[in-house]
This record gives sequence, C-alpha cells and structure tokens, in this order.
Amino acid sequence: MAFKCRVCDSDKISQILDLGLQPWGNDFIQISENRKSELYPLNFVICKDCMTCQIDFTIPKEKMFVNHSYMSGTTKTLKNHFQKIGEDITNLYEFKNEDYIMDIGGNDGTFLEYFKSKNIKVLNIDSGLQQAKESNKKDIKCIADFFNEELSNQILNNYGKAKVIHGSGIFFHLEELKSVFRGVKNLLSEDGVLVAEFIYLPGMIKNLAFDQIYHEHLLYYSLHSFQKLLDQFDLNIHFAKMLPIHGGSCVAHISHKNNLDLESSTKKLFNAEINDGFLNFNVYEDFAKKVSKAKKEMTNLIKMLNTNNKKIYALGAPVKGTTLIHYMELDETKLKCAVEINKHKFNTYYPGTKIPVLNQADVEDPDYYLFLSWNFKDEIISKMTNYVEKGGKFIIPFPKVEII
Ligand SMILES: [Zn+2]
Repeated sequence: MAFKCRVCDSDKISQILDLGLQPWGNDFIQISENRKSELYPLNFVICKDCMTCQIDFTIPKEKMFVNHSYMSGTTKTLKNHFQKIGEDITNLYEFKNEDYIMDIGGNDGTFLEYFKSKNIKVLNIDSGLQQAKESNKKDIKCIADFFNEELSNQILNNYGKAKVIHGSGIFFHLEELKSVFRGVKNLLSEDGVLVAEFIYLPGMIKNLAFDQIYHEHLLYYSLHSFQKLLDQFDLNIHFAKMLPIHGGSCVAHISHKNNLDLESSTKKLFNAEINDGFLNFNVYEDFAKKVSKAKKEMTNLIKMLNTNNKKIYALGAPVKGTTLIHYMELDETKLKCAVEINKHKFNTYYPGTKIPVLNQADVEDPDYYLFLSWNFKDEIISKMTNYVEKGGKFIIPFPKVEII
C-alpha cells in the first residue's frame, strides 16, 4: 500500500532525502549481548498538499518508548529550557486551586517540578517504565501508559479537565497522532491551553540538522503545517516562540478555536515562513543537496585525520548520532568509540555498529572529539577546560563542518 500523509491522508508524497537503511536510533545493545540491530528504511518525504515533512516508515511505538534510556533530568541546558517554558505558562495563564497541568510524555517529571514548586497540581503521563518510576519517586504522579483518546476518558473521570496540557517533543513521534489530538480536545478545559514543543522544521533546514531525522520523529512541522493538523480538531495556535534548544525548537500555545486571538509577533513568524519559501518544494530540494555536500566534507575530513593517525572519539551518544554515523558511513575503524555520562548507555554498541559506548571517566581523551550532542555544545565544552587546555579539538558537524 502506498504511503499516505500522516496529517491529511493525501498520496501526493515526494521524496526529499533518503538516509538509507538505519537501526532504531536508540537501540543500544550491551556489548556482552549477542544481538544485531534490525535495519529499517529512513526516508524523509514531504506531502505536497499540506507541506508536512515526515518519514514514511513507522517502527511500532512499543518497540521505541517502553524501555528506553533517555532521562530529561540529565542535562542542565534542558532543565533551564523547561524552566523558561514553565515561566511563560505561569505568566500568561492563571491557575485556580482546582486547576492542574498535565504533561504528555513527561519523562522523569523534570518539566513538572517547576509547577509543583509553585503549588500547582500536576499529572505526568509517560509510557517509559523507568521514567514513570523516577517521576513517582519525586512525588509527581505518573500514569505509565500511552496517551490517546481512550486514556483521556479515564483521566477525565478521575481528574476532570486540564487547564494546561504540555507535550515536549511528543507531537512529532506519535503514530496514533489523531487519537492523541482527540484526547487533548476532550481533556482541555474551555479556557485551557495546549503547550506543544516540537523541533522547528524551518530551523532544522536552515541549520542543515539532518540528524534530527530519525525513526522516533515521524513528523517535522512548520507553524503552517502544524496549524493544518490542528484545524482538524478546531484548535488554533495563538502564540508561538522559538527557543534555541535542539538547534531550533518551537513552543506553540494552542487554544480552542475562536477563544484567543493570534498574537502579533506570532503572526510575523507565520509570515516569515511564507517569505522564506517554506511553502515551496525548492527549499527542501536545496536542503537535500547541501546535506549530501556536508557528507562529502565530513567523510573527507575524517579520512584525512585517520590517515594522519589522529584518534577520533564521538562525544556523547545521543539518538540523533545514529543518523549521522550511518549516513556518514562511520564505523569503528574511523571512530574508535563514543564516550557518555549516562550510565544506562555504558558498555553498549552504537546502534547498528561496532563502535563501543564507554564511560567518559574511564577513557583517555583522544586528539579529536566529534560532537554528536552539538545542541548542548556550550554546556559540554565549558565542562572540558582540561581537555581544551591540553590542546584537544572538537569537530562540530552543524550548521557547517568545522574544527574548534
Ligand atoms: Zn498532507
């Protein structure tokens, strides 16, 4: 059966970039375990009717989101980022006593901590078993399940309607997309607000950050394409803001239709998308050309360093690194290992490779670190003054390949 648009069901799908066969980006396998990652197509496409970018293959959610190792609480940058979103919410909207905020895919409860400290009632929903456990430990009640229309009815019965529903990086990796939005529509109080955070497609394209394309990210929105989706549920973006995390992220505030007017700076953001050509296919074609050029630059650079016997390790082992490593055809002969501070990833292989992921504290520094967590670059570099003083260098892949 031919692939149909996840948002509008159109079959006018055009390919932008084929990233080849790739494992699920978070399939870190213990070195001691004798198992190989399965490979799946990773193909970035666009719907020419609603201009929503997406990938055309779905790995079942049970495989990706029940046992995974990503914990929100690990980085300070992310905590600060959540704090900013939280402050916007409490500045803009008034919480009465009985009002509560619900976080869909709230991970270990990091986002809700701020609200709890303000004595606002909170409820977390996360399908990750470890994450739910961590959240409950912090006394942030977590329902360990996938949010959808059915679960929204149970929540409605037990807790009533929500004043604010928050979802960070979640509305682009839902295979039950429409059921989730029906659930949100169902649960959101009349004057309630949905705060949705997603990787901002125009930012990703401008930064050439193709490593944001992985199987967990089924959809890539501009404000225009996100609004097209919301139209189906009588929901409207009334406010949006760009934040620098993940190389460009958008936080959209959404309300029931005809409730709140579109704020003027947000109107400008919508217009900028039109002026920058994001409603035309050319921008995406151009992106694909630049990405393939970046691949050549990166592979040449690494080849040159390898020839000169320079040791290169990957710094960090984020999911998006899988996309980069596979697309750039890097293996254990080019990249000796990846170093991490997240203990859940120690002594595993980078998905689909024989590149070991090791505890950073146990490994001597190489000549070059390839930055895979480039979005946390400033925070990480500031912690590595020793390495920098010894003359250690970093290879930065985005927005252009460079050595610092
Ligand atoms: Zn479409």
